[in-house]
Amino acid sequence: MPGLPPPRPRSPRQRALAAVSALRELYPAVCALSHSSPLELLVATILSAQTTDERVNLVTPELFRRMPSAADYAGADLGELEALIHPTGFFRSKARNLVGMGQVLVGRFDGEVPRTMEQLVQLPGVGRKTANVVLGVGFGIPGFPVDTHVTRLANLLGLVRSRDPVKIEAKVCQMVPKEEWTGFSLRLIQHGRQVCVARRPRCALCPLSGWCPSAVVGPERSLRGPGTGEGAAP
Ligand code: SF4
Repeated sequence: MPGLPPPRPRSPRQRALAAVSALRELYPAVCALSHSSPLELLVATILSAQTTDERVNLVTPELFRRMPSAADYAGADLGELEALIHPTGFFRSKARNLVGMGQVLVGRFDGEVPRTMEQLVQLPGVGRKTANVVLGVGFGIPGFPVDTHVTRLANLLGLVRSRDPVKIEAKVCQMVPKEEWTGFSLRLIQHGRQVCVARRPRCALCPLSGWCPSAVVGPERSLRGPGTGEGAAP
């Protein structure tokens, strides 16, 4: 009947589909890491561990200029690489991972970035999150990367009750159509950065607050996602 509000989503699946639809209206499906090829995206995503995308984007123009191919990473001087990526933190282990990544790409994959999860996770420094970014953003192959924002929002929105990224990925992928996986993850990340921020979610500004089970509107907030044990603290 015209004029009636849409029914409140009650199950995790209904909430997941409602979130997909609402977030699609708010954000483009974009990745904030600057890149122009799957290799550059792979490198940028490895570098993004424990730092911000902005910091990664500061170092990658020069890095990509000096290292355009997998073979360049395979044969890179560790010291030179460490200096190039220093601002991203954990630069020693990241440099080792990048050299190892280059060596595995050259040794097993003809210098090309592979297109399957099974192959991508063989690369040093690459777990399911990074592999899903490369698959989804780099190749347009559906993947659902689970980072800290996705973990927090998936719990707050009542889609899952778990902090385990593998379980969250599996559960959300069961509930959401495959073609939405990558965009949904990218949009959850943007919502987690702009509105549903870890320290103080801005529920009063959030278009999902009409049905989000964790929504609190008012000066005092002690947000707890269903079963997460996560409060408003970082
Ligand atoms: S209503 Fe609040 S807790 Fe729920 S998604 Fe929006 S900002 Fe986050």
